[in-house]
Amino acid sequence: MTERPGSEFRIDHTARENVQFEPGPLDRDAPFYVAGHRGLAGSAMWRRLERAGFTNLIGRSSRELDLTDRAAVFAFFAETQPRYVVLAAAKVGGILANESYPVEFLSVNLQIQTNVLDAALQHRVERVLFLGSSCIYPKYAAQPIREDSLMTGHLEPTNDAYAIAKIAGIMQVQAVRREYGLPWISAMPTNLYGPNDNFSPKGSHVLPALIRRYDEAVQTGAAEVVNWGTGTPRREFLHVDELADACLYLLEHYDGPEQVNVGTGTDVTIREIADTIGKVVGFAGSTVWDSTKPDGTPQKLLDVSRLAEIGWKSAVGLEDGIRSTVEWFRAHRDELTERG
Ligand code: GDP
Repeated sequence: MTERPGSEFRIDHTARENVQFEPGPLDRDAPFYVAGHRGLAGSAMWRRLERAGFTNLIGRSSRELDLTDRAAVFAFFAETQPRYVVLAAAKVGGILANESYPVEFLSVNLQIQTNVLDAALQHRVERVLFLGSSCIYPKYAAQPIREDSLMTGHLEPTNDAYAIAKIAGIMQVQAVRREYGLPWISAMPTNLYGPNDNFSPKGSHVLPALIRRYDEAVQTGAAEVVNWGTGTPRREFLHVDELADACLYLLEHYDGPEQVNVGTGTDVTIREIADTIGKVVGFAGSTVWDSTKPDGTPQKLLDVSRLAEIGWKSAVGLEDGIRSTVEWFRAHRDELTERG
């Protein structure tokens, strides 16, 4: 009887590997499922794959396919037989949403990813890329955060439930590699922004929240804007089109058990982000900081040297990325504000 790796819970980068695979160009005509293709990361992935000439992309909205419905997910895989999968579907949100709804962030994300990864395993999907988040790393990880700092310390409490779900996903990818020898990989993006982001005032991350808030202040002629926290935390921001480019690059050039950080390698304070957004939207008033709202982790900057070694580097400047995102937001403002 073969022994199952049930007693190991630590993510071990030197774990016994059963994978013999040389990455190379993906088949442009193979069925390619993008889970979460309407979301921020998934929609960027879809655009990138279209641009790269993929002819057989598969996507389902959450109304068409509820990824927490295990039977429906298995039936979908049986019907569509994807050869490649990018798992970009997740329940995501900013600091307040994560702090308020830890049950949903843990449970829904575990269900989605376990269903998709289990179905992908049953159908022996050749290549899977699981997308995580930089919040998987310890709150006080040494900066910039290296991949091997995973599980070396306590998580940031405002998003620990979400982080644990994502860590479970990395483990599942590694477990499939060890037990079944499939060349699946994981990528951990830093804070993302761009088209199709969630711009809702309470649920969103900082960058879309501030774009909406400063833009509204310009519309209404408000003299003052109030942001959350102290403005001193440092964050790294990556345009989502760059994430998608890096993901395709990884699928064609990387194979290994260790999750790969995806970021720019540069961080800014929340205050600097607020100033840049204010400038881009043309806000001339003043900014106040509401320190009764949480700051979250003091700094989140990824070490992207592994990704650079593999051969990918970010090229979009933050101000340019913000400018194009503001343009997108203004073009879609009405439909977005209707959603709340
Ligand atoms: P985090 O990176 O997981 O902490 O998530 P966020 O993107 O939600 O928050 C980043 C930082 O921006 C935190 O220090 C927040 O306090 C700060 N922040 C300032 N104003 C806002 C806002 O309106 N919305 C959000 N989500 N964060 C804000």
